[in-house]
Amino acid sequence: MSVVQRVRRKIEEKREQLGPALDVWERTVSLLQKQIQFADDMQEFTKFPTKTGRRSLSRSISQSSTDSYSSAASYTDSSDDEVSPREKQQTNSKGSSNFCVKNIKQAEFGRREIEIAEQDMSALISLRKRAQGEKPLAGAKIVGCTHITAQTAVLIETLCALGAQCRWSACNIYSTQNEVAAALAEAGVAVFAWKGESEDDFWWCIDRCVNMDGWQANMILDDGGDLTHWVYKKYPNVFKKIRGIVEESVTGVHRLYQLSKAGKLCVPAMNVNDSVTKQKFDNLYCCRESILDGLKRTTDVMFGGKQVVVCGYGEVGKGCCAALKALGAIVYITEIDPICALQACMDGFRVVKLNEVIRQVDVVITCTGNKNVVTREHLDRMKNSCIVCNMGHSNTEIDVTSLRTPELTWERVRSQVDHVIWPDGKRVVLLAEGRLLNLSCSTVPTFVLSITATTQALALIELYNAPEGRYKQDVYLLPKKMDEYVASLHLPSFDAHLTELTDDQAKYLGLNKNGPFKPNYYR
Ligand code: NAD
Repeated sequence: MSVVQRVRRKIEEKREQLGPALDVWERTVSLLQKQIQFADDMQEFTKFPTKTGRRSLSRSISQSSTDSYSSAASYTDSSDDEVSPREKQQTNSKGSSNFCVKNIKQAEFGRREIEIAEQDMSALISLRKRAQGEKPLAGAKIVGCTHITAQTAVLIETLCALGAQCRWSACNIYSTQNEVAAALAEAGVAVFAWKGESEDDFWWCIDRCVNMDGWQANMILDDGGDLTHWVYKKYPNVFKKIRGIVEESVTGVHRLYQLSKAGKLCVPAMNVNDSVTKQKFDNLYCCRESILDGLKRTTDVMFGGKQVVVCGYGEVGKGCCAALKALGAIVYITEIDPICALQACMDGFRVVKLNEVIRQVDVVITCTGNKNVVTREHLDRMKNSCIVCNMGHSNTEIDVTSLRTPELTWERVRSQVDHVIWPDGKRVVLLAEGRLLNLSCSTVPTFVLSITATTQALALIELYNAPEGRYKQDVYLLPKKMDEYVASLHLPSFDAHLTELTDDQAKYLGLNKNGPFKPNYYR
């Protein structure tokens, strides 16, 4: 055993001895965070005698901020962590208990989070104001399954303002902002979600949204396809009566096309992922802005000079690589598609097979939407302290199950951070158990989500109001004109001034002066 390993083992032994004390201390800090600002925390810290020292406080703060997903000033839930929300009887101030969230008492704080998000989602708010009088979603009963964050809350409340009734669950067991879910429940939305659901809770929440006496969904808004799959399998009669499905993720869209190919899709569906205003913004810019945040909050890693391999050079991969490169990381790409591989080469990245670099890299990031991209064999060959995480939708990209074997020890070192330890002492740092890193461990930029949310709202309005026969039982893209409309709603935020075509120019290009300006296949 090397000196480093011996010292590390000693530290771990000490940590184990201090376990209960650490627990108490971390809870205390969590509670403090509800009342005081970060600066005050540092002062308060000195008043609390502890054996674990300053390092422990900074650890707790970052843990708490990831616990609540949003910001360092966000609530945490450690006061009632042990009790499953399924076992609690909760009612909102109007006496309704048609929801299941972690703690309804956090509603006021969640409301503030939603109000903050609204400030950077002016386009969605302006759509809300423009269409509020017409109520284009009157009669729509939307069952939704998305990340439950302040930004999606703005979407859900927009749909309600436009006349819809909504029942909502989370598409990821770690990404729910508990206080936001509470605020939605307080506002009367039937929301079933909390951060840290079990797999069983996850499906229970989806089922509670769909299976409700006297209420039958007629629209689906999905992110990842799990809700659609559940309704299709468990409630075929409900599925047949759905007027439209709006799906936002690569993964969910893939499932819809499979259903359609098999002739089993009996409902029109809108593929929002491939709308330019989703894919070229959310996937790219959202990940460019959040990959570093997720890695920093969980590991405090420095990127300059680090060797990183990114699996998949699609939109998400491109966003991640741009951010990593900007901080001086040495980035390798793996790809199966020669076009994306060539793009990576032209952008200055080395395209390699994972096997070629797995021994030397410091960080492995998957963003393929595929499965078993990082296998146990790769994990066995990684060097000590290699960080492994996933930016794709599902937890299928890294073979995490293969790590749950007796010879490997799992050690939870922070919220969403596990050290998986091999018998020789080697550690791999696994983030969010292989689930989507940015939505599990950091915040995502509100503005870019406004673009996606506006696209989703328009897709729902379009499908719900489309005359009989406009959409058949197939998967559709939102018309280009709507993509352009979504983009134009967001331009005022930048005080951007569009150039107008002259009549002569419009004739020359064969375009209508008011758009669409690109063909439907433009990406
Ligand atoms: P994409 O299709 O544009 O890119 C995926 C890339 O992975 C493709 O270029 C594909 O060729 C490549 N690929 C597939 N299998 C591979 C393998 N075995 N090895 C190497 N490369 C492989 O999709 P995208 O828009 O980049 O989305 C990727 C994933 O990220 C999806 O699951 C999507 O739902 C998710 N997503 C995450 C976020 C987020 O905030 N984290 C945002 C949007 C999308």
